[in-house]
Amino acid sequence: MPMSENFKGRLYPVLNEIAEHFGTPFHIYDETGIRETGKSVKEVFSGISGFREYFAVKALPNPRILDLMKSMGFGFDCSSIPELTLSRQVGARGEEIMFTSNDTGAKEFMAALADGGSILNLDDITLISKLPKMPELICFRYNPGPRRTGNVIIGNPVEAKYGVSHEQLLDAYRNAHSLGAWRFGLHTMLISNELNYEYMVDTVQMLLELVEWISSELSIKFDFINIGGGLGIPYKPEDVPLNLGAMAENIRKRFDTFKEKNGYVPKLYMESGRYMTGPHGVLVVKAINHKNTYRRYIGVDACMSALMRPGMYGAYHHINVLGKDEEDKTTVVDVVGSLCENNDKFAIQRELPEIEEGDLLIINDTGAHGHAMGFNYNGSLRPKELLLKTDGSVELIRREETMADYFATLNFEPDTLTPTGKVS
Ligand SMILES: *Cc1c(COP(=O)(O)O)cnc(C)c1O
Repeated sequence: MPMSENFKGRLYPVLNEIAEHFGTPFHIYDETGIRETGKSVKEVFSGISGFREYFAVKALPNPRILDLMKSMGFGFDCSSIPELTLSRQVGARGEEIMFTSNDTGAKEFMAALADGGSILNLDDITLISKLPKMPELICFRYNPGPRRTGNVIIGNPVEAKYGVSHEQLLDAYRNAHSLGAWRFGLHTMLISNELNYEYMVDTVQMLLELVEWISSELSIKFDFINIGGGLGIPYKPEDVPLNLGAMAENIRKRFDTFKEKNGYVPKLYMESGRYMTGPHGVLVVKAINHKNTYRRYIGVDACMSALMRPGMYGAYHHINVLGKDEEDKTTVVDVVGSLCENNDKFAIQRELPEIEEGDLLIINDTGAHGHAMGFNYNGSLRPKELLLKTDGSVELIRREETMADYFATLNFEPDTLTPTGKVS
């Protein structure tokens, strides 16, 4: 099921008023839904030692959303300096931030270690020598290669650019240990948008076995394992939601077994983005054009700069039409934006109720990897973001881009080099 009945119940009665006041298009996020998901994640994992969710900032990098996550006790998963800055602006410090980057540069390491620091998650063994200094706590991202298959979306680990290989793993910890690290974490991320929880249970099992192996070889203990993000959400009406309760229960059993054998357990960290906010956001657009050529088209007042997933991955986003019965599918249309790119389509050959100009379309599940992925190609400007708060009020949490924003990078000090060929 895409958008929940509860979210609809909170949004639909006031949507016309919101659209009139703020103007379309906009993404709107549901505080109540986000808080409910956060609460349920905490509850189902409460039986597992030191569980902590690190919200993947890239999914919805808005300070008001990060505030919400912080207030629920979550940390932040960052991979760039702006993401670190955002997280620190809402008050996160030190081990409340996990810095999981790849192809990392010196500036990124400096920023990750400055200003209260963060947990460094190194993507490669060669990065050890590039750190300004070895911190006391260090984590490595593991890539199992042919030992695991990953899921359809993330693909074959052998072809994935991420992580330390199995063969390098022991040396990575040995080197870090010899340089002064004495607390350790182990990270991996093998799936994306996966609805079958067994992948995650297998990942926990794999990480715990690695922890046993590395600990016994090097006489070190592990502070935590981090199973990454990748929990899926049901984008299509026929998708069966992830069974988070069963996932947590099965993970707990693996932890219990580990504890019996080893006398201690590492903490469990997770860094979900999509699962936390994805279903709790929608993109609201207005139908402004009808076109009947070889196909029927509905033109709306937003384009793929507001939501890249359909154009980029052929992703399905469910669409509702405000005030029209969802079951009344009387037309087949492509819902399109204005870019000069034929993949600028929110839906292709979709059965929908009859749409008139002026109708509001609600594009579901844009709460993660939605607004954040947008770009400016074709001079397209990204829409605003709103928060539907639990008290019923609606707050602007990011304005729409303006032409001045678009032209801002054309405002610079003139700089011209006439090369002399003398610098070697
Ligand atoms: C993107 C990403 C996440 C979040 O992924 P979701 O699919 O949104 O859960 C977590 N960790 C890392 C390292 C990522 O790259």
